[in-house]
Amino acid sequence: MDESKLKNRLMRITAITIISSIVISFVGISLIAYVGSAAHKADYIQMQGETKEYKDRISKQIDKNFHILNSFSKTLEVTNSINSNSELLEKVITDVNAENDFISLSYIRKDGSSITNILGSGTKTDVILDDLNIYAQIAIRQAFNGRNAVSKMYDSQYYDGKLFLYAVPVYYNNEIIGAIAANDTIEIFTDIANGNYVMDGKGYIHIISSRADFLVRSERTLIKGQYDNIYESPYLSEETKQKVKKALVNNESIFGKFKYLDNTYYFYMEPLDLNGWYLFCANKIWSYSLSIGNIYGIIGVVLVIILILFNALLYFGYNQIRGNIKKLIRLAYWDPVTGAENETKFDQNFAELQKNQKKYSTIALNIHNFKNINDLFGKVQGDNVLCFIKRIIENSLKEGEFFCRSSADTFFIVLLDTDEEEISKRLNKIITVVKEASVMYGNYSYELSLYSGVAVLGDREKALLALQSIKNAHQNIIAFYNKELHNEIRQKNSIESNMHLALKNKEFKLFLQPKFNLKNDDLIGAEALVRWQNPDGSYRFPNEFIPLFESNGFCLKLDMYMIEEVCKQIRSWIDSGVEPIPISVNQSKLLFSDRNYPNNLEKIINKYNVPASLIILEILEGVAANDMDFLNQQIETLHKKGFKVSMDDFGSGYSSLNMLYQLKIDELKLDRGFLRKVSQDNNERRQIILEQIISFAKNLGIDTVAEGVETKEDRDNLSALGCDYGQGYFYEKPINAKDFSIKYMS
Ligand code: C2E
Ligand code: CA
Ligand code: CA
Repeated sequence: MDESKLKNRLMRITAITIISSIVISFVGISLIAYVGSAAHKADYIQMQGETKEYKDRISKQIDKNFHILNSFSKTLEVTNSINSNSELLEKVITDVNAENDFISLSYIRKDGSSITNILGSGTKTDVILDDLNIYAQIAIRQAFNGRNAVSKMYDSQYYDGKLFLYAVPVYYNNEIIGAIAANDTIEIFTDIANGNYVMDGKGYIHIISSRADFLVRSERTLIKGQYDNIYESPYLSEETKQKVKKALVNNESIFGKFKYLDNTYYFYMEPLDLNGWYLFCANKIWSYSLSIGNIYGIIGVVLVIILILFNALLYFGYNQIRGNIKKLIRLAYWDPVTGAENETKFDQNFAELQKNQKKYSTIALNIHNFKNINDLFGKVQGDNVLCFIKRIIENSLKEGEFFCRSSADTFFIVLLDTDEEEISKRLNKIITVVKEASVMYGNYSYELSLYSGVAVLGDREKALLALQSIKNAHQNIIAFYNKELHNEIRQKNSIESNMHLALKNKEFKLFLQPKFNLKNDDLIGAEALVRWQNPDGSYRFPNEFIPLFESNGFCLKLDMYMIEEVCKQIRSWIDSGVEPIPISVNQSKLLFSDRNYPNNLEKIINKYNVPASLIILEILEGVAANDMDFLNQQIETLHKKGFKVSMDDFGSGYSSLNMLYQLKIDELKLDRGFLRKVSQDNNERRQIILEQIISFAKNLGIDTVAEGVETKEDRDNLSALGCDYGQGYFYEKPINAKDFSIKYMS
């Protein structure tokens, strides 16, 4: 994951968080709003219910009072008491009042004279209609006009508190002759005004007039301050006041709200059907009165705070981990030694490139013998070389091209070119610049030689295959991946997949090439050489498969198999009464590094009861390069068991006479390269060297064998130089063991 991806991911997390917190908040808000509105509804219903109940109670009391007064009026008419003497009338009134507990009960004649019984104070006859409170007069006159009437509330001189007056007409001979009037408090009003019962104590009720004057103002009112009229209070909005006015005119009930000390409260007004009066019920509990707008507001603020906090946290966390992640990204994508990108990053870039680039090549670049640089100059200097090469590559890239350091000294490069000539030109430039800057260490200098494999429109793997194809060919520095290379690889794969079965099926055949004494052409031994016989009878030669077996380790098995084949052959000679000759067997480098190797060998020769002295083990000079001491130990062990050891291909690589002196070998095989003439001048020098080597070996008691003796001239020349034995086409090619036995061993 690179940094931009990380950023994207964090952005996504942030976006998701913001969106989800908005969603959650809206769900929350809606839920709270729903609960809130449900609570409002419940409140409204309660308010309305209770208000109506109070209204009911008031109506019932009024109805009851009218009923009493009407019955009384009827009694007067029927008993004709009005026309009897005043004393009787006074008594009747006193009795009726004693029964019903009105504050006062009067009979008022149409002329305005009256008889009044005041509860607890006796009867008065001197009060006339015009002396009464105006509201009382109005009600009484309504009764004179044939209606049951209730007065508005007024203060009475007889009573401490507000009173109503009820009045009903009194008939005689179908004519209204007066009115019965009673004063009463409506005790429920006192309950309403002072009681703790409204809305379970959470509310209060006022009684207001049709002009919105307070008639009874509850002591439990929320709003402090004396207002005579609800329009006077500043707590109702203009809009609400208009709504209230309209409702009062139409005698309708109304819900509304008012604001007090920054909180919103609700009220309900219900007409009383009495003088246009209203019950005004209000709720005192603020929490239930919270408006939906307020809820949204509060939650919005909380949400914003949460979001700010969360994003601050996210940002802080991002910055905190960004440092670490940068480091991780460095580790994941960058090569710590050179600072170049690594394979992982390269592969990402490559995948990206393939999506939109049609013209590219992948190059694998390697340093010849980089191990030597590390060994000779140390790891630090080795790293410096890698950094240097990295810079050279970096500077030679064009826009859109990229590279990485893979393992050790391998670099991969992508060039946006497909023309082989152009690619070669660019690579040659890199290789030349690197070559010219050879590593200096003290007085030593070491030439840096690079080689490369190119896969036009191919990937790393193909580039690497092309590279490997020239690994050991120093003269070739650029190899292009192609079909043949691919076939070679396919063949290699086919060999690898078939080798085990081939061994089992005994497809590996023993061929023998005789060795002769150069002095008298006597047969002195033979070299065992392997041939792989295909099922169709054709042969594969060792150079096709031995290098591969060396690298994949199969040589370990094959060489032991060949030892066994050789032992079988020797045994068969012995068994048929033929004097056996020593056989040289080629041994892979790998075998010599195995501590059990001498014992394993011994087991095989013992199995066939073959003397160890008939087995000559041919090792390649490269074996010595690894661990001279260990090699000498192995040779010593082998000697003890009776085996002989020969050094093969001497003079082909980095052989040194010093090595001859150090290694306790029995035989030296001179590489056939010594015998091939290049030029006259060269030839003379080679003669001198050959002579020196032969004499040096002789002095050390080491036999010398010349390989590749192809002509009589070769033989004579070698013989003259003192070389002991010869092997080559001049004498015989390698032939199969059966033919060999017939020709030489019978
Ligand atoms: P080598 O050990 O140097 O074997 C000698 C090679 O030179 C043989 O090639 C042989 O056929 C060839 N030769 C012989 N006389 C002449 C001559 O006069 N002129 C020329 N030009 N060549 C001559 P071959 O059999 O193809 O073997 C090639 C290499 O394969 C051997 O080189 C040896 O290193 C390896 N090899 C062969 N058999 C085995 C084996 O069983 N085990 C192992 N580990 N390596 C083997
Ligand atoms: Ca050999
Ligand atoms: Ca050889």
